[in-house]
Amino acid sequence: MRNKCDSVNASTLRTKAPALRAGASLNSHAPNPRTQCGGFCRKLLMPFYTPQTTVNLAKHTAGCFSTVLNRLFGSRSAGAIGILTYHRISTMVAGVPEPAVNVTPDRFRRQIAGLLNRGFTIRPLGNVLERLARGEAIPPQTIIVTFDDGYGCVYTNAWPVLQELNVPATVFISTAYLDAERPFQFDPWATAHLDHVPVDSYRPLTTVQCREMVESGLIELGAHTHTHGDFRGRSDAFCSDLQTSVDILRACFGLPAVTFAFPYGRPDMGFVSDELIAAARQTGVTCALSTEMKLNQPQSDPFTWGRFNVDPWDNASTLSAKLDGWYGWAPKLGRTVKCLLSGRCLKTKIIAATGGWWRSETTPQDRGLLGHRCAIPQPPSASTEPSI
Ligand SMILES: [Zn+2]
Repeated sequence: MRNKCDSVNASTLRTKAPALRAGASLNSHAPNPRTQCGGFCRKLLMPFYTPQTTVNLAKHTAGCFSTVLNRLFGSRSAGAIGILTYHRISTMVAGVPEPAVNVTPDRFRRQIAGLLNRGFTIRPLGNVLERLARGEAIPPQTIIVTFDDGYGCVYTNAWPVLQELNVPATVFISTAYLDAERPFQFDPWATAHLDHVPVDSYRPLTTVQCREMVESGLIELGAHTHTHGDFRGRSDAFCSDLQTSVDILRACFGLPAVTFAFPYGRPDMGFVSDELIAAARQTGVTCALSTEMKLNQPQSDPFTWGRFNVDPWDNASTLSAKLDGWYGWAPKLGRTVKCLLSGRCLKTKIIAATGGWWRSETTPQDRGLLGHRCAIPQPPSASTEPSI
């Protein structure tokens, strides 16, 4: 028997089909001309270089270094609120490469238990926002756990752990995919390995699963837009899409207040902007979270809050270092290294220093380099960009 949400989803899916198709192109495997040209540093390191291994190595190193600093000097969070972002909680399958954004169930349990043992208190996002709105203080070492997209394995693998440890969490759902049996269109790993991996490692959550988790009192649902599209420069379309998501969450789950996290989430790539934040406010959501890796001051605007992505190799020590404020420098260093490897930083500095006098006109790419430093917005690629 169809529940009343089925008709909402079916109709909205039909109306949003073009946007879904647009979203599908985000993670195509088409070669990126920028990465093909390369730079001097990349050519030098070519025998050892792949984009993903370099990014992972840099993240791993940053995590270890942050852990050492945390042990030496202690927490520097000073009452700030840290938020963790998970996506998929799935077991590894022999012969199948691990997806970019995944933590195994066993590691997930050890991470959460380890954070609790280190004195962190995990509170629901909605509760923290309500307390702040009432002017109440948030106790030190308060952190928040979130899941993006709404993978079925949150129900099968993460929720039992959360119940066992009595830990609340927020699941940000792209509502167009609720009850879908196909993989998310931004998940090329699932499409490639569909026949060899557990169904819940790629299939979205169902309405029934969500309802059961919400009724437990431990899980809050939040919006992650309806279609999980690329809304850069399309604030009107974004507002409409997010409103659809908010309406579905209210109708299907009776949410009195709806939290929100941006899809793709990176301000430096244009997926979060002042225009999109203003559009989000129009929908009545109570926050707008990015994946900018930073702690959040209680007095700051929750529409500018960031979160820390949890990497597959993270343990309680590296997560503790992130949440204690020792990881903020890592993204800046990572972007600089990435720029150096691509050769763009050197080009940027030359253009900035000379004003491009040697050519009659600069290319759009060069103007972008001047205007945005090294952070030219690019669609995220599954091979190099795990933040979805
Ligand atoms: Zn997402």
